[in-house]
Amino acid sequence: MNTPAPPEPDHDSGPFWVALDEERIVLQRCAGCDRLRFPPIGRCPWCREPRSTWTPVDGRGRVYSWTVVHHAFEPAFADDVPYVVATVDLDDGPRIALRCAGVPDFGTRVSPAFVRHDGWTELRVVPDA
Ligand SMILES: [Zn+2]
Repeated sequence: MNTPAPPEPDHDSGPFWVALDEERIVLQRCAGCDRLRFPPIGRCPWCREPRSTWTPVDGRGRVYSWTVVHHAFEPAFADDVPYVVATVDLDDGPRIALRCAGVPDFGTRVSPAFVRHDGWTELRVVPDA
């Protein structure tokens, strides 16, 4: 099996990737409007404030929607197809897209799962029992 290409953390996303390596999730909380945002970016998409604070979240949420991937665009995941990519509304606010174990339904409760690769950690979700 190939190793998936690692992310390329930048000034805005570095703390997010470091936290995942520690099996924690942190999101930017806007210093202007107090909203959490994802993905990590340099300015708030609602109020354009550049300042933010990295805030821990538990990564639990509900599936908003999902798709089944039949063609792996990342060769390292070719042996995994078909797999599910879900959009999840985190309990803490933002909607994120990530891989989901199994096939969920609309509103399925999910929890985070940290998948280690060579040199980086991927955030996924698993449906709650
Ligand atoms: Zn804001």
